[in-house]
Amino acid sequence: MFPFFRYYPFFYLLSSVFHFSPVFPARTLPDFTTLDADNNNYAWRNFARFLDAGKGSEVNGMSELKKYLNRFGYLPIPPHNNFSDFFDDQFVSALILYQNRLGLSVTGKLDSETIASIMSPRCGMSDLIKINNNNNTTIHSTRRYAFFNGQPRWIRSSTLTYALSPDYTIEYLTSSEIRKVVRRSFSRWSAVIPLNFTESSDYESSDIRIGFYRGDHGDGEAFDGVLGVLAHAFSPENGRLHLDAAERWAVDFEQEKSKVAVDLESVVTHEIGHVLGLAHSAVKESVMYPSLSPRGKKVDLRIDDVEGIQYLYGTNPNFKLKSFLESEKSINSGSSSSSINTNFFFLLFFYLLVLVWSLFY
Ligand SMILES: [Zn+2]
Ligand SMILES: [Zn+2]
Repeated sequence: MFPFFRYYPFFYLLSSVFHFSPVFPARTLPDFTTLDADNNNYAWRNFARFLDAGKGSEVNGMSELKKYLNRFGYLPIPPHNNFSDFFDDQFVSALILYQNRLGLSVTGKLDSETIASIMSPRCGMSDLIKINNNNNTTIHSTRRYAFFNGQPRWIRSSTLTYALSPDYTIEYLTSSEIRKVVRRSFSRWSAVIPLNFTESSDYESSDIRIGFYRGDHGDGEAFDGVLGVLAHAFSPENGRLHLDAAERWAVDFEQEKSKVAVDLESVVTHEIGHVLGLAHSAVKESVMYPSLSPRGKKVDLRIDDVEGIQYLYGTNPNFKLKSFLESEKSINSGSSSSSINTNFFFLLFFYLLVLVWSLFY
């Protein structure tokens, strides 16, 4: 009796273990699309309404989405700088390029995975480096680490100084909390390449200068308020690293409860990658992947980050690739294997319970 009950847990058991999904709705949009009223004015929130818009359609405001794709390197500027609201072939091509570059399923459609990715807070640097402004061709469509044009890197010294701006800062975190996070972020990079970073008290003469800026701050890349663009930096040997002062920066999520809090350490580690010469990676787990969820944390360099930066600077003599790979492997398998085990035993128990129940009734 009730064959459905016998079948369903078993199917569910199999699906959990082998990681295929039964018929469940497609991935939903991220949590931060339904934030409370106080936080409802963050950038790119309105992109949710373009979900499942189809090719050939005209949706009011879609030109904003095209401007977004243009900003991050996926669409050329149209004649007269005038983006239309049409979902045309060029827009499909841009979506395909975006999905490829961000490691998403390549559908050419505004599916939930793509919309969620587009709405996600991210770094302000472009994903694709234009090598020829006349015909907008792009390079670095590989699914790995990337560099800026000409592969610039620091050559002036193997010891670089950095400093935090005494003027452009935030009030709700102490200077020592911020400095500790920044020191840790630099140490992750110096552990793998033969470069040292030392903090300097002389901001103006430091090689790398870090500050929190609000809105238009004079470098042509205005910040946009809560979420949206989180930060940006300049390629070598410029040294500027700018964080959006409008974000709710967190150094400890136990203390900082805001739903839109952004992990300072993750973003600083990512931006240092740019300062040193890395562009965005298409590997989702890598530090150099362009987006980061609110309350998300991604501070440990992955092999893709390490290979990229070592290509530019060589290897730190103390860096042990074997032990790095082993620790990366244990990070990868640690979380997923424990959840598989928990699911497996829970579902096995549930299945046996239903089996016993169906035998008696
Ligand atoms: Zn970036
Ligand atoms: Zn800036």
